[in-house]
Amino acid sequence: MIEAPALIIPTDISAMIKEIKSAYAGYVAKFRIPSDHVIVVNYSGGKDSTATLAIAHHLFGDKVRNVMADTDNEHEYTVEYAKNIHQQIGCRPVQLVKRIYSEQDFAKRRVSVQKNWRKRQAIRMGAYRGVVMPSLYASDTKFAEAWRKSAKRWGIDFDTPLDAALSVLKPSGNSFLDAALLHGKFPMLRDRFCTDELKINAAFDQAINPLLEEGEVVVQWSGVRGDESSKRASYARFEADRRDSSFLYNFLPIHKWTASDVFALHKYFGIKPNPLYLEGAARVGCMNCVLCNKEEIAQTAARYPHHIEKHREWEQKVRLVSRWVHWMSVGTFDQSWMRKYSLPLGRAVQLYGLTPEVQNIDWSAFYGTRGGMGAPSVNDVVEWAKTGRGGKVYDLVKASLDTEVCSSRYGLCE
Ligand code: SF4
Repeated sequence: MIEAPALIIPTDISAMIKEIKSAYAGYVAKFRIPSDHVIVVNYSGGKDSTATLAIAHHLFGDKVRNVMADTDNEHEYTVEYAKNIHQQIGCRPVQLVKRIYSEQDFAKRRVSVQKNWRKRQAIRMGAYRGVVMPSLYASDTKFAEAWRKSAKRWGIDFDTPLDAALSVLKPSGNSFLDAALLHGKFPMLRDRFCTDELKINAAFDQAINPLLEEGEVVVQWSGVRGDESSKRASYARFEADRRDSSFLYNFLPIHKWTASDVFALHKYFGIKPNPLYLEGAARVGCMNCVLCNKEEIAQTAARYPHHIEKHREWEQKVRLVSRWVHWMSVGTFDQSWMRKYSLPLGRAVQLYGLTPEVQNIDWSAFYGTRGGMGAPSVNDVVEWAKTGRGGKVYDLVKASLDTEVCSSRYGLCE
């Protein structure tokens, strides 16, 4: 829901912009940053980065550049909005960058998969520690015979999981999907390679670093607001960036602002916000973010079902590059190979009450574990999202998401 900016009047915004100007001058002096430094605004198409860009342009005009890293999982409105925001603000057009995974990246991955999937593998952590998984290369084993039932269920025709994986390990034309194919899974809370590779590194490699290479001193302005999470609140308003601490700095001009202030600033400058907000979105990052909450999933399913369909198609491919899904897809077959080999880790298999038969995983789940389901498909998650609050599990998941979602230091994922 949009928070009403009604209590903020234009003179407040004017004073708040003056505060930013004065604080910034103080930091520039304190850090001895040359006056001809370059300002680069990290842009996402969301309200906070739009406000940041508008303020930066208002104060420094064409000195200000901007960059948006398109993850290829954005809503089409957001990309369109970013492409046209310069017409509303009067700034330079947004530099759209994208991480492109090459055929070479995939060739390297294919070599690694061909080498490693031949071997048996001992699971080293979690409930299955000590379990030895069979080769995914041989076609004449009991496991392969059982796996071919999975393949039939999935509507594919391969002799081995390795063949199935190799069939999709090539550039797909979509960077988000390519990242997941190369990692063998979708990003998750504790392994958010999407933010790192598709956002932070793409913006740095393609927009920031070239400026540093030219000898410029760069200050990145990001629309991070402290009231969104305790992690965001903990960031310093101004500091040197560890990636190049003598020449690159980070400034968070609206760190203390509220969402109401941000929308009031839109009004003050006559900027229309991203239309997704007008349709009820609370955030406009990826459509959807892998970490988004139950309400957001239900809303996307209702309003933008083509994005759910997109994720369903991605899941069908990504499961083929996941060793775990191949192994666990054979759940109803007696997984006796688990106990056949002498265990290399000096202890017995730890199944903690689980029986191999209960494990029948068919998906490398885009949304991860949801609603008590271990690895649900996006369709399962959508059905769950349409239900009520869902009890304690939901509350716990939501509580963690509210504080953790997209807490990028650079505000690149809103
Ligand atoms: S918005 Fe979510 S899915 Fe998109 S890059 Fe950020 S963390 Fe990843």
